[in-house]
Amino acid sequence: MKRLPTVLSTNSKSLPERGNSCVRVALDVPLPRLFDYAPPIGASVASGDRVTVPLGRRHQTGVVIEEGASELAPDRLKAVIDVRSDAPRLPAQWLELMRFLSTYYQRPLGETVISALPPRLRSLKPLPRKSLNGNPVPASARFMPTHTLTADQASAVEHIAARHGTFAAALLHGVTGSGKTEVYLHLIARVLERGEQALVLVPEISLTPQLEARFREAFPEARLALMHSGLEDVARTTAWLEASRGDARIILGTRLAVLAPLPKLALIVVDEEHDSSFKQQEGLRYSARDAAVYRAKLSSCPVVLGSATPSLETWYNFRQGRYERIELSQRASPGARLPTVRTVDLRADPADQGFCAPVLEAIARRLAPRAQSLVFINRRGYAPVLTCEACGWYAGCERCTGRLVLHAADRRLHCHHCGGQQPIPRGCPTCGNVDLKPMGRGTQRVEETLAARFAGARIVRIDRDSARRRAELSRTLAEIRRGEGDILVGTQILAKGHDFPNLTFVGVLNADTALLSTDYRAAERLYAVLSQVAGRAGRREQPGEVLVQTRYPDHPLFAALARHDFSGFAESQLTERRNAGFPPYVFEAVLRAEAPQLARAMEFLREARALEAPPESVRVSDPVPHVMTRRSGLERAQLVMQSTSRAALQAHLAALSARLFETAARGVRWHLDVDPIEFD
Ligand code: ADP
Ligand code: ZN
Ligand code: ZN
Repeated sequence: MKRLPTVLSTNSKSLPERGNSCVRVALDVPLPRLFDYAPPIGASVASGDRVTVPLGRRHQTGVVIEEGASELAPDRLKAVIDVRSDAPRLPAQWLELMRFLSTYYQRPLGETVISALPPRLRSLKPLPRKSLNGNPVPASARFMPTHTLTADQASAVEHIAARHGTFAAALLHGVTGSGKTEVYLHLIARVLERGEQALVLVPEISLTPQLEARFREAFPEARLALMHSGLEDVARTTAWLEASRGDARIILGTRLAVLAPLPKLALIVVDEEHDSSFKQQEGLRYSARDAAVYRAKLSSCPVVLGSATPSLETWYNFRQGRYERIELSQRASPGARLPTVRTVDLRADPADQGFCAPVLEAIARRLAPRAQSLVFINRRGYAPVLTCEACGWYAGCERCTGRLVLHAADRRLHCHHCGGQQPIPRGCPTCGNVDLKPMGRGTQRVEETLAARFAGARIVRIDRDSARRRAELSRTLAEIRRGEGDILVGTQILAKGHDFPNLTFVGVLNADTALLSTDYRAAERLYAVLSQVAGRAGRREQPGEVLVQTRYPDHPLFAALARHDFSGFAESQLTERRNAGFPPYVFEAVLRAEAPQLARAMEFLREARALEAPPESVRVSDPVPHVMTRRSGLERAQLVMQSTSRAALQAHLAALSARLFETAARGVRWHLDVDPIEFD
């Protein structure tokens, strides 16, 4: 059979001499290979094109990666059905990013490429009409700065702006309230003047509506594309298309925004770069921060990593001379100083219903002058355990190793791991005792205690339960900024990035659980969250005060926190990590397995370990069950691989992964996680 000649718009010189000319297509199939198709008759096709192809009995959307010569017999080589021209062709640089992510994170290229597209572009449906007409509003670069920069801010801006057009990674290490956002805005203004694009990654945009507002105020006429997974289909598709056409000049989004094609990319900002939400925990387990650095290299542009408490990985990169550090050591707002941070020794000042006396007094002192207080507790719900004191029974989740959390609002028991819920039992299922007791406390119970204690005070609780509706959260936060609400009770959500002018006191209720954790990252995380939450206090002229309730007031972490000495803390953590042989001194990956029974998961890992002998420079641990073994009805175990050589680890992972794909893993689900950050 003779086929008509096809037009290949790129690389036609490398047309194959043997085999049948074909295109290799990335498809969303969990196999480490591409699929060959004959080019469509009469249409041109090139790498980066989205195409419709037959797969089995169905059609699928794929992306052409390259041209080639197929080994398949001509009659077995099916043809591309359709070249989809409703979105711009994916640029070569974007494909290169995908190849990198696929190789580095050990995920088939097909799955990597397809999952990087917004859902609508993966589907067979045509794109919504509304998203297509890129009504070319002349994008204006008008910039409305909120403040005159301080000397430190101005020199940070000049320093980074001078790197325009070249790759450079800059750690913008600025204490809370130092005005990092203002630095970003000034840098973006320069990018807009040149008609280029700036990508700004933030941990959780839906929780910080104020940030979006600040961007829109600063650039009232710029095309800004918002990107996060909470957007509905049309909005998400439109944002992506605007970004990939180069029309959107500011792209503000969560980690997935790093995967958008940006033809005029000239600056990347990763705000709160230490935040663990930049690491995706399923599918392609990429770190958006690391991907951002790689992207900046590809695009020859600067990347700014902003944080008051950088991740130790980033700190280490700075210490090794790979990243430069730019410091903002003072608060930007006139008269604002960093808060005083002190501990309260719970052994001397025992807590009553969660509060020790000095914390209650500090709150009380602020009620009359109408200053605000924030009570931080890192646990939502009413009480984390419901127990029977007669026999020791406690309410546990049937599908998980975890305990059920009592929620007061709906009077039900919730599992925070699998989302399961059940009614409160009438009595103890083991001994029949009807007097079941809630133990410990979460935000709801703290709110109740405060309400009983300070009648008449307005208490506002903000946690994931109360923040379900975005508009409502946005309104509540605006009210708090205007000074409404006397006592705020909240989790991490309240710690992140908010600017509450009237807030002068922060009380931290339960810092100790993290100090006792076996996870070597627990201290790093605790320091970050405490410094974030402490950073909410005293952001204007009124000084801020922070009290941390603890049984370990002598812990060096608190001393560093009180001195606002992140550098000292980071250095001592690095020493510990080096002595213990943990990242960033070694590179790590884990192979995880989950099965209905732990024994099967463990057996799989033992087999996997034997599949591919590691080189001497790679250490492979014995399989171990997860700390929280059972989740959502599956039991989990893992194998940790470490090496001081990233290349050696990568080579071993590639070999192991190839063997694993060849092996039929019956009754087990597995995945590799490179640079993992969550171990349970
Ligand atoms: P960060 O993100 O570093 O914690 P922000 O960017 O939120 O800090 O800024 C903290 C506060 O300081 C904000 O209220 C901001 O408006 C204000 N601010 C920033 N830069 C200046 C400046 N140059 N002069 C006065 N106030 C400033
Ligand atoms: Zn009992
Ligand atoms: Zn559960």
